Amino acid sequence: MSRSAHPAGPRHADVLPEGHHPAPPADLNRLDARIWSRTVDRNEDGVATVGGLDVTRLAEEFGTPAYILDEDDFRARCRAWADAFGPGADVFYAGKAFLSRAVVRWLHEEGLNLDVCSGGELLTALDAGMPADRIAFHGNNKSLEEIERAVRAGVGRIVLDSFQEIARVAHVAQGLGVRQRVLIRITVGVEAHTHEFIATAHEDQKFGLPLAGGQAAEGVRRALGLDGLELIGLHSHIGSQIFDTSGFEVAAHRVVGLLQQVRDEHGVELPEIDLGGGLGIAYTPDDDPREPRHIAKALHEIVTRECENAGLRPPRISVEPGRAIVGPTAFTLYEVGTIKPLPGLRTYVSVDGGMSDNIRTALYDAEYSVSLVSRVSDAAPMLSRVVGKHCESGDIVVKDAFLPADLAPGDLLAVPATGAYCRSMASNYNHALRPPVVAVRDGAARVIVRRETEEDLLRLDVG
Ligand SMILES: *Cc1c(COP(=O)(O)O)cnc(C)c1O
Repeated sequence: MSRSAHPAGPRHADVLPEGHHPAPPADLNRLDARIWSRTVDRNEDGVATVGGLDVTRLAEEFGTPAYILDEDDFRARCRAWADAFGPGADVFYAGKAFLSRAVVRWLHEEGLNLDVCSGGELLTALDAGMPADRIAFHGNNKSLEEIERAVRAGVGRIVLDSFQEIARVAHVAQGLGVRQRVLIRITVGVEAHTHEFIATAHEDQKFGLPLAGGQAAEGVRRALGLDGLELIGLHSHIGSQIFDTSGFEVAAHRVVGLLQQVRDEHGVELPEIDLGGGLGIAYTPDDDPREPRHIAKALHEIVTRECENAGLRPPRISVEPGRAIVGPTAFTLYEVGTIKPLPGLRTYVSVDGGMSDNIRTALYDAEYSVSLVSRVSDAAPMLSRVVGKHCESGDIVVKDAFLPADLAPGDLLAVPATGAYCRSMASNYNHALRPPVVAVRDGAARVIVRRETEEDLLRLDVG
């Protein structure tokens, strides 16, 4: 199926071509290890468990909807990325995927660095004790206040995104009597094979200085001439939910081309390149992501080869996975409220959350899986659409799903792979209370972000 959204929006894209639905899975009760976090299982009663805890108990204790995050899985993925790239490279977790103080501490303990792109994310990172020199500050329109805060804190790098920002950061750093380490974000004209709303390196877009037309080279020239800046390298981020490295290959080729030009024109070999994030995860059994070690090996080879061809010393590489670390580590636990069979079409299953806790289906036409987790069932598969409780027909959580035909109100459903860009993009639409994030590990559960309360809602509404 095409990954691009229908121009008229997801509502109009739901008339799917004949034969679109894959055959129902052979076993509806099976929780596919490629999609679920690694400690997920079912107990002898058929109830799904995570970190050794039954989802029914989690629902009782913490309510639904709730994001249930598998801490062991999160830490294991951090280590897999850090080990894959080794001491000669840097892994920055992209905080925008999901950030909380507990997550910052886990990242710190597992030796990762952290990307932030706002004052709020920077505050969270610093408050939880992430050393400032391991933080990179991103964004295409950082305010003067944010820049000052980042420079004062001593962040390890600021990724510069425009000519104005080159001047602003230089000015702030000089005023504070420091030299700020910076990279320049460039757009290399690569469109990764992904959804058009989340592809970000083709040149008709807001991020970075385009390579074409010489703006990127001009940015480097200006940055090298400013006392407040120490230009350490170039940055490129080509998209999201990418499954092969061919896009990175073209991007690295072009970034290295600019490194070569910089050396020839200024006699400077910039020591780093950051290839960004965007590595894909499995939302459905059709997605087949590559292991971090395969990605690391491929990226190292690509950069080394390109630099050899250009006669350059290979720079230090950094990468910025967000989704690939946190995405698979969490699922959203919902309770079924109503069930509406539409003969000849499908059955609409309404859960107690929706687009306020997962906007990705409506926004990107994203695909998810879903399973009945409070019990197993031998009933026949029923073509379903899992929808939320919001006043909007585009409020879809899982567009096409097979659920057992004996599904009933009160059953618990879980949607896996919701660790990234769900809680971080959650809203209060319809004055929904944003769900908690509950971390589980070794038979213990604790809330790391609490559920919003009605008091929270009214506190912001000052009358
Ligand atoms: C969003 C973003 C990332 C992370 O993307 P994922 O798809 O979550 O890996 C990394 N770097 C930059 C600059 C980004 O904007």
